[in-house]
Amino acid sequence: MRWLQGFHGRHLLGSQRPAVSPELRWSRLRRSQRLGCGLSQLHASSVVLVGAGALGGCVLPHLAMLGIPTTIIDKDVVSEENLGNQGFAENMVGLPKAQARAISLRSLNSSWRVNPVHADLSRVGLGDYAQFDLILCALDSPGARAALSAIAVHTGRAWCDAAVDPSGVPFGRVACYDPRLEDGACYVCPHDPSSLAMAMRGGVEGCPGTPGRGADAPPTLATSMLAAAVAALQVTWATEMLLGRMDGIAGMEAYLDLGGCALRRHRLVRNPRCLFTHRRFEPIEPLGVGVAGITVAETLRAASTWLRGDVQMRLWRDAIATELRCPECGVVRRPFRLLGSLSAAEMRCDCGAEMGAPAAGLLDRFGVDEAEPFVDRTWDELGLPEREIVAAGADGCEIFLRFK
Ligand SMILES: [Zn+2]
Ligand SMILES: [Zn+2]
Repeated sequence: MRWLQGFHGRHLLGSQRPAVSPELRWSRLRRSQRLGCGLSQLHASSVVLVGAGALGGCVLPHLAMLGIPTTIIDKDVVSEENLGNQGFAENMVGLPKAQARAISLRSLNSSWRVNPVHADLSRVGLGDYAQFDLILCALDSPGARAALSAIAVHTGRAWCDAAVDPSGVPFGRVACYDPRLEDGACYVCPHDPSSLAMAMRGGVEGCPGTPGRGADAPPTLATSMLAAAVAALQVTWATEMLLGRMDGIAGMEAYLDLGGCALRRHRLVRNPRCLFTHRRFEPIEPLGVGVAGITVAETLRAASTWLRGDVQMRLWRDAIATELRCPECGVVRRPFRLLGSLSAAEMRCDCGAEMGAPAAGLLDRFGVDEAEPFVDRTWDELGLPEREIVAAGADGCEIFLRFK
């Protein structure tokens, strides 16, 4: 498999550590009836864990000890406020959470293949997600979960979600989704428009700054105990899924009521009127070049070899900001970059106010005419994540193009 970034944690552990015998490390697990015969299969698989906070921090030691190759994606940095419930060492304050987890957990198992990525989940290309055997979600907002659900559906990846709700009785939830199932539900399936809007607005989950949450929203207040209980079930289900034992797990959702000592589960049902499309991206055509190696104009020309008629590009989870406007002083900027790639500084006006993109200033579909101001820029210059997949359509046909 391809690793998103190189990571070499060994030097951080010191060089005097005696070598550990793999035979002895795995000797007891190999005698386990449930896991033993599948251990080699787990070592040959790969997972991505999105979210390395309270919940993700309890999931990761199990993955490390089991030796399951893991990519960790998290956009946050360890703060002092995280020390009370997220299990970071004090000397990790200031480090990206993904890197902090990788450094500390390599001491559990130095042969563990771990790849920390300090980024928002939306800045990792769809082609990267498509390479994993399983996606594990330990996020803290419904909006981010819905985004990950869309990634899983479009790439046809199974994913295992977990959530904690410490607002009243300590309560947790674990759900396994498999979009490859004929009747497989997605995260959005249970919602109607009003309940989805309510979930995206808030509830008790979420960190301040998470899309769909107010800047003054309270952070998730999960205790480490609640997170540990929920993580134990999530990793148990995840290993079963990796070993192909999907029956009774794929498409199931479990509720853990730690206050009432109750565990209930039920089957998730596909909603035929789901607000999400459930569409898998195929066929996918490899462009053979990375985002820095091809311009928009060249991509439109390449797409026209597969399609007949006027080709339109479609971005599926971001849009090109053609106009930013300051609500205070009215200043207008034209960045011609993906909105999600713009930094907070780039979104700030000289007067100090935060600039916004009016609906008319966002372009997620364009042909050669609409793309005229940026048609000679590479996708890298537009801020597209590496190995992203974009859609191209013409005359009712649509294909998907993957950057290398
Ligand atoms: Zn759905
Ligand atoms: Zn201004």
